[in-house]
Amino acid sequence: MGNKRDIVQKLHELVYKEAVKVREEAAPFFAAHSDLSKMNSKLICDETRLRRDRVVWHKLVWFAQHVPKHAIISWLTFLNRLATRDRLMRMGVVNENCCIFCAAEESRNHLFFECGFAREVWRGVLAMCLLNQGVLDWDAEIEWAIDFMKGKSLLTFILKLSLSASIYLIWEERNRRCFTGVSSYC
Ligand SMILES: [Zn+2]
Repeated sequence: MGNKRDIVQKLHELVYKEAVKVREEAAPFFAAHSDLSKMNSKLICDETRLRRDRVVWHKLVWFAQHVPKHAIISWLTFLNRLATRDRLMRMGVVNENCCIFCAAEESRNHLFFECGFAREVWRGVLAMCLLNQGVLDWDAEIEWAIDFMKGKSLLTFILKLSLSASIYLIWEERNRRCFTGVSSYC
């Protein structure tokens, strides 16, 4: 349980840093919710630019002041082009497709956010934004995000930063455990 809280704490710090960098009014928001321990529930290039203009989710990834490394991983996730084990197995690269967090079959949709680990992280991030709601499957969650994360409000900005940061950090943690067998949050 502790490592999930730690990853949400890291997300909080990361989103705080990015939000305050570009939006001064973000500081009071985070100041009010800085102690997560007290919150129980709570480029790539022009070629891709042409493509993203045609997809409805592009504004969730490629918004002003996005964090490039987060946006790239999010973009690959939306396209279902991450090297998840279900894809690698179909390509004959690996011969097992178990999720490193829970041993279910690893796929884009499992990692985001059917997997218990990822679901708890995203639930914690939503709670950080005072959205105490259940976490849905990938399609439903993105459908909700497209509908909810509109406009130029501070909350929308923070949620977009948080979504990309969550995807990035879950994928980074997955890779760390796959390739080193070590969790950075234990
Ligand atoms: Zn899993």
